Amino acid sequence: MSKKIAVVEDEAELATLIEYNLSRAGFTVLLFPGGAQTMSGLEAAEPDLIILDVMLPGQDGFELCRQIRRTGKLARVPVVFLTARSEEVDRVLGLELGGDDYITKPFSPRELVARVKAHLRRADSDAEPVVTTLTLGPFRLDRGARRVWQADRELELTPTEFKLLEFFLTHTGTAWSREQLLRDVWGEQHFVTPRTVDVHIRRLREQIEEKPDEPDWLITVRGFGYRFETR
Ligand code: CA
Repeated sequence: MSKKIAVVEDEAELATLIEYNLSRAGFTVLLFPGGAQTMSGLEAAEPDLIILDVMLPGQDGFELCRQIRRTGKLARVPVVFLTARSEEVDRVLGLELGGDDYITKPFSPRELVARVKAHLRRADSDAEPVVTTLTLGPFRLDRGARRVWQADRELELTPTEFKLLEFFLTHTGTAWSREQLLRDVWGEQHFVTPRTVDVHIRRLREQIEEKPDEPDWLITVRGFGYRFETR
């Protein structure tokens, strides 16, 4: 069965171009022009991936992404933002809205298709049933359920943050460069930059550290990268 991609984009011409290229790559494409019906439409569609324009009439892409991450059915669906300006990229990364990637306009259809494929491959490999539970210090990670707790508190992590924490919990004590983390955690997505790593580390720290600026677990290795410490 072909994968379903929801595209939320109010510019009809651009939406059609995206639809054309994704359809040609074998995907089923559902177009949403934005507006009040978008969330209910997305819930009904149950897409495998959502492409989300930032500038939309009514609720913008950022607000939609927040809602997507709070909606059980959609919470773990990869979200790729389409942004027109570099300031928006800063917001995507800076506000940590739970998006998985962003593409700046104008973009090449080939690049878009490649990124969509990379995210879907990753979502597939993430979905492979693994029944092991990993416990380390106060952390308990259930790979099958894709849930993680710190002491009694369940952490709310995006798919990328989950994967990053899973990596650190299984590779403690070693210093990892940003490039190594990109290769081992992000895998086939060649589009992410070392800065992406820093953004996700910061977000992860906000979840697991008592004082994110003075981390106890996720330590900065100056001039190199990061190390996860067990106490
Ligand atoms: Ca727009």
